[in-house]
Amino acid sequence: MIDIQDKKECCGCKACEQICPKQSITMNVDNEGFWYPVVNHETCIECSLCEKVCPELVERESITPISSYACYNLDETIRLKSSSGGVFTALAEYVISQQGVVFGARFDKEWNVIHDYTESLSGLDVFRGSKYVQSDIKDSFSKVQSLLKRDKIVLFTGTPCQVSGLKLFLRKEYKNLLTMDFICHGVPSPSIWKSYLKETSPKLDRIKYISFRDKTFGWKKFSLHIQNLNQAKSILEPLNRNLYMKGFLQDLYLRPSCYDCSSKNYTSGSDITVGDFWGIQNEVPEIDDDKGISCILVNTNKGKIIIDKLNLYYKQMELSQIDKYNPALIRSVDKPVKRADFYKSVGSNNTLKILDKYTKMSTVVFLKYKCRGLVKTILQKLGLFELIKKNYKK
Ligand SMILES: Cc1cc2nc3c(=O)[nH]c(=O)nc-3n(C[C@H](O)[C@H](O)[C@H](O)COP(=O)(O)OP(=O)(O)OC[C@H]3O[C@@H](n4cnc5c(N)ncnc54)[C@H](O)[C@@H]3O)c2cc1C
Repeated sequence: MIDIQDKKECCGCKACEQICPKQSITMNVDNEGFWYPVVNHETCIECSLCEKVCPELVERESITPISSYACYNLDETIRLKSSSGGVFTALAEYVISQQGVVFGARFDKEWNVIHDYTESLSGLDVFRGSKYVQSDIKDSFSKVQSLLKRDKIVLFTGTPCQVSGLKLFLRKEYKNLLTMDFICHGVPSPSIWKSYLKETSPKLDRIKYISFRDKTFGWKKFSLHIQNLNQAKSILEPLNRNLYMKGFLQDLYLRPSCYDCSSKNYTSGSDITVGDFWGIQNEVPEIDDDKGISCILVNTNKGKIIIDKLNLYYKQMELSQIDKYNPALIRSVDKPVKRADFYKSVGSNNTLKILDKYTKMSTVVFLKYKCRGLVKTILQKLGLFELIKKNYKK
């Protein structure tokens, strides 16, 4: 049976809770805001199914993607509403045109992030856009399974660990299942998100709309936009100014398993992996209009067949042109030394103050970041960066 000794051993995909034939597993939220399984020993029949579906316990093979592209949605309105180039919507629209069902992450009425599904084009809006909070998968895996058994075409989208969890939960391949994950930096804590929101917008029912990837100041300088009925309470702050985004990008409140992710490096089993094509301005400057360019990694033949049918602009790229700007594809981020102190200090009413304190970079750290960037740019211009990186890895 599942027995979590160290919190980094659980990614929170809830495959164990959903597979348990005796409903002996419940998920409890810890003081950092993440959920973990707790087994009821009185009803558990020790069938070990929970262990067989756990992405942290079952090793998976790393594959080599078949092909990789830079791309964007040819519908500019969709592209501007999407986080990067709008691949998700192109894929979802195709699946719905085939009478299929699309699973993804959306906000609920209280602005928590949850997984849900839609069967209509008009229902896609709420799933569009990245939500930088761990999404509660609820009973999505069971719902996917029952739709697949009814021969529905299903597109499941989520983090690499959610896709790993789903594939293990299903325990067999379905021709009518298509999975899309994304390059994942890590998932931030739902409770830090809610505390941030309550302090900035105390009346949650006055919030009209939230986007973590508003493109008012461009795709590269994206903003957190919280639109409030009271305009004075609205927030539109780029990633380098907004406290919540700074904390996320400095890795302060990611789930413990994200610092040692077991679904990276092409092991999730997804058909397609998407992400932001950071660095497109160096690789193909003529298509970079700062409206958002995605990268797509096609991992399976099923993914290849679907990709050929989408309303996207494509340019074939080498994998190395993608991963050099997006190390999250391969490696987990490091756990910041100050994470434990951050969690000790943050309470129910001081989130903004503590975020401000912990996201200020010391001059030494600031210079280290700046110098690292400068040295990397110079080495890239000299064509030495890849060579040095390869030797460093050896
Ligand atoms: C927590 C997180 C971390 C990320 N880290 C990186 C990164 O380091 N590098 C990178 O290149 N890209 C990263 N991405 C992916 C990127 O932000 C875009 O989502 C991706 O490029 C797809 O964009 P799009 O324009 O095709 O479509 P969009 O419409 O923007 O795609 C949204 C898709 O993401 C899903 N989604 C949104 N929020 C969540 C969530 N919280 N949990 C599960 N699924 C969710 C939706 O269901 C939908 O399928 C991250 C996304 C998230 C949610």
